[in-house]
Amino acid sequence: MSPDLIDLSYLLAASLFIIGLKGLTKPRTAVRGNLLSALAMLIAVAATLRHQDIVGVTGLLIAVGIGSFVGTILALKIEMTAMPQLVALFNGLGGGASVLVAGAYLAGKEFSARVASGACFTDVLTATAASGLIGAVTLSGSLVAFAKLQELKFVKDVSFPGQKLLNLFLAVGAIGLGWMLVTQPEHAQAWYWVMACVATGLGILLVISIGGADMPVVIALLNSYSGLAASATGFVLNNNLLIIAGALVGASGLILTRIMCKAMNRSLGAVLFGTMQSGGTSLSDEEVYTSVRSTSADEVAMMLEVSQNVLIVPGYGMAVAQAQHAVRDLTNLLLNRDVDVQFGIHPVAGRMPGHMNVLLAEADIDYERLKEMDEVNSTMDQVDVAIVLGANDVVNPLARTDPNSPIAGMPIIDVDKARTVIVIKRSLSPGFAGIANPLFAADNTLMLFGDGKKAITEITKAFDDA
Ligand code: NDP
Repeated sequence: MSPDLIDLSYLLAASLFIIGLKGLTKPRTAVRGNLLSALAMLIAVAATLRHQDIVGVTGLLIAVGIGSFVGTILALKIEMTAMPQLVALFNGLGGGASVLVAGAYLAGKEFSARVASGACFTDVLTATAASGLIGAVTLSGSLVAFAKLQELKFVKDVSFPGQKLLNLFLAVGAIGLGWMLVTQPEHAQAWYWVMACVATGLGILLVISIGGADMPVVIALLNSYSGLAASATGFVLNNNLLIIAGALVGASGLILTRIMCKAMNRSLGAVLFGTMQSGGTSLSDEEVYTSVRSTSADEVAMMLEVSQNVLIVPGYGMAVAQAQHAVRDLTNLLLNRDVDVQFGIHPVAGRMPGHMNVLLAEADIDYERLKEMDEVNSTMDQVDVAIVLGANDVVNPLARTDPNSPIAGMPIIDVDKARTVIVIKRSLSPGFAGIANPLFAADNTLMLFGDGKKAITEITKAFDDA
């Protein structure tokens, strides 16, 4: 392939990435944006492989066929609830790839020749160090995030005295080793791999202590890191497209981090220096659940029938129950009976940014009915019935009242201020933050215990039977 054609392909791919990202900003254009970005990636990979003469056209087509097959199976089989873990793994693999590519460059003939010639190439060495350092933090941090999202017990909020000091020590150590790599290129490989090991430890320690409500910020930040590492690798390989694509991921991840920080009421400084809320003490179940009242689907149907407006607040449990289609049926039924239905969407409900929006859009629920937290909170006292469907942390009033709570200061959807609250979940078990929720014992709350989909279907059926 001629160099001009390669450059043209890279330009096309970079433009498609940008147009694709723009498409992802609106639900209506998101699918197209996704397709354009996938096409851009295909062009980028194909052009790079042809440019370096790594595979011929036949090999390329076979690889595309195998990749498409694996991708299709993965997309069809993966549970919606497992998407965040998958994203965490993808971030980690991106970081790991940057570490290996930069490491391979140091082991290559081109590098040895440059060192032997005594030429100064501090810029490339700095990019190599950055690629290895950020990539290793991303890899290990993402694997810990994966384990946490998978709720593996051994990674549950591990913290010990002096942990922040150790983090600082490792961060300074990794940067120092990177500096040695740049200043002593003849020993670059040794410095590089020791730095990567220290950075791996740093990534583990940074993420392992983070619990409560702070995980969304960490995931967005790791996503950004994976882009920055890729961009640095682009400088190592002198590949413009990798620099552009990495910068796009890095920048969009940082924007998402900022949005998440705002939603969680945390400062970016606190996130970057690992001083996030972690664990903390909160009230016990016995102290909180003194007077829990339960209800039935028939009773809820009767309440809904006489109400004028209903607010549905979905959470992670809706994803687990896959209740979105049942929710659409109940929504349509209520709208037909002149009951207004709105949805209150918390920015960190579920396990990934936009989790609830994706599920409700999949069920064809009118996007206009989805309201942001601030909007619903301002009119909460006029809501007749608030249905909390599999949400817990995002409606927990302790965030407002208990400074020791791991979710202290996180803005919540104030359903406790609605006239009546129906909470649908299977038990009084805690949510992601692992703490009790006084909402379940409030005077205006009734618990409808059961699986989210089954409960909503039973409420709809109770209307039909009436
Ligand atoms: P939570 O994790 O707080 O609570 C979910 C609730 O759903 C549980 O209490 C569970 O109770 C219930 N549930 C589970 N399965 C079902 C089912 N089949 N039917 C009905 N209910 C069910 O979820 P929220 O959405 O309120 O809060 C999200 C949390 O996740 C926050 O702490 C956030 O910080 C964190 N997080 C968010 C990320 C993001 O990007 N959005 C990323 C990582 C973490 P029970 O078992 O009794 O049914």
